[in-house]
Amino acid sequence: MRKKIIAGNWKMNAVKEEAIALLNGIVEQYNTYNLSPNKSVIIAAPFPYIDYCATQFSNFQFLHAAAQNCSEYEQGAYTGEVSAKIIASLGVQYVIIGHSERRQYFNENDFVLLAKIKQAQLQNLVPIFCCGEPIEVRENEEHFSFIKQQLSHCIFHLTPQEIKNCIIAYEPIWAIGTGKTATQEQAQEMHAFIRKEIENKFDKPIADSISILYGGSVNAVNAADLFVSNDIDGALVGGASLKINDFSTIINAMPS
Ligand code: PEP
Repeated sequence: MRKKIIAGNWKMNAVKEEAIALLNGIVEQYNTYNLSPNKSVIIAAPFPYIDYCATQFSNFQFLHAAAQNCSEYEQGAYTGEVSAKIIASLGVQYVIIGHSERRQYFNENDFVLLAKIKQAQLQNLVPIFCCGEPIEVRENEEHFSFIKQQLSHCIFHLTPQEIKNCIIAYEPIWAIGTGKTATQEQAQEMHAFIRKEIENKFDKPIADSISILYGGSVNAVNAADLFVSNDIDGALVGGASLKINDFSTIINAMPS
């Protein structure tokens, strides 16, 4: 059975007091969450908090810490960078790779993203690989070929064993931070397409085992509708993950 995951991406938000309050809020509400070995919560806080986050969550079986990025290099003279090795040494288990904001503002291309995934996996971090098309691509009805290319240029270079240890997040760029969510049909259609592409490249058992999250203005109101879809295994949540009650509602909107 595929793992269900609700992941919060705080991006570059929350000063220390806010970050502590949010993490404490999650821990306090933990007993109200319908989590299980098959359904967990991941929080991708800014780097300065990931150690605290991993430490806080270490007492809770189904709460996990993530980084929002890692370096494509293993270690050394790369001022300002944070390696997968450092992240893993903190007890963090996941890392987001290839978020559209990294691709757009920091020019991260498929080649760099593949190197980051390799670094992450070398340190036993699970990459959450993001893909998603801009609005012009969808309007031109080229979204399937666009996503296929993003997969082919990056995670389809992994071995079967490596891809099995990835999570995929489909995040249409036009839906991120815009309040404009993909419809349940649009999201399900793309998730099924991604799964089929994985099956074509690898095999059906692998395709059936990979969690594919939807991201793009998921909130407390629309989450339950999205989660009825067969191929939507959870969400990568930006804005709404900064509001504890909304995030808790999203967590419980996903059946365990
Ligand atoms: C994201 O940051 O990955 C995201 C989906 O943001 P939002 O939920 O705010 O659209």
